[in-house]
Amino acid sequence: MSEWMKNVRKTEPYIPGEQPKADNVIKLNTNENPYPPAPGVKKACREINTDKFRLYPDPDVTELTAVIADYYGVNESEVFVGVGSDDVLAMSFLTFFNSDKPILFPDITYSFYDVWAELFGIPYKRPALKDDFRIDINDYMEPNGGIVIANPNAPTSLYEPVSDIEKIIAKNSSSVVIVDEAYIDFGGESVLPLIHRYDNLLVVRTFSKSRSMAGIRIGFAMGNPLLINALKDVKSSFNSYTMNMPAIILGIEAVKDDVYFKNTLEKIINTRNRVKAELEEIGFMVLDSCSNFLFASHENIPARVIFEKLRSENIYVRYFDKPRIDNYIRITVGTDSEMDAFIEALKKIKKSVDIC
Ligand code: PMP
Repeated sequence: MSEWMKNVRKTEPYIPGEQPKADNVIKLNTNENPYPPAPGVKKACREINTDKFRLYPDPDVTELTAVIADYYGVNESEVFVGVGSDDVLAMSFLTFFNSDKPILFPDITYSFYDVWAELFGIPYKRPALKDDFRIDINDYMEPNGGIVIANPNAPTSLYEPVSDIEKIIAKNSSSVVIVDEAYIDFGGESVLPLIHRYDNLLVVRTFSKSRSMAGIRIGFAMGNPLLINALKDVKSSFNSYTMNMPAIILGIEAVKDDVYFKNTLEKIINTRNRVKAELEEIGFMVLDSCSNFLFASHENIPARVIFEKLRSENIYVRYFDKPRIDNYIRITVGTDSEMDAFIEALKKIKKSVDIC
């Protein structure tokens, strides 16, 4: 072994869902939006002045920050923008979680949290969700170095009421509580108004799901200016220009078209509710989703079998080979025709298994 290898940081990376290369697949595995971004985004993309690419982008992301602040009714000093919410969350872990006490997040949640904790050497504890996959707020009342809660949670799709999250924030005034609201636009009430009451609350959002912009990479955090300034300082100690010029321009366009945004959300929510009922009819137990995906377990076909059989039909869903959730599949809500094909494929699988 080379001497230098002893000094290499060893880390177990987060494994994102598969991005199949073929075009003829039904992709329901990474919670992307099946609809394109707002039409204004396409137009703005065509009109981008590429001559300007020779210049560095605005390190303060001023215009996009202003548009986001205006849309959500907060001050510009309360907004931090980053390269997708993964970047914002990673930066937040680095900025706020520097205590010797463990940070807390549920045993079943977004699986990047423990990856960042490991990477940054942050001690952590993962209180178990209850049997119904709900949070027990009493688990978050002990001394800690910070808290992260995805609401709605992933991969469970379950939403916890604001009143419960507020109890956690209020009880933990000496640590930062991050509420990851990647999926909040698909149902549930945001804790955002609480940022004016609690200086330890950071709300993290993304353009990747509800605004159909996963490929452009825009995420943002909203919170007290003290939190935002601390984030900006760490970001500027790391990389001045995280947000590229086209992302800033296209992000602004995405926020402008609220009618398109709301229509897209409504379509996805309607499809989600219909598909949940159809899955239940063919023997699935489906959790109550407030997100753009469903988390489902079949009464007699193992989830791994369903996942593999669907994959062989070019239908990709997500399967987690992890304790407590290894008999569930996570299904992103696609277009109506994609979901019809998915249900048809499931009926076929069910028939073939029944025959066996
Ligand atoms: N938080 C949660 C709970 C997620 O599921 C995801 C998507 N993988 C993210 C954050 C990150 O999304 P993005 O970096 O695309 O904003």
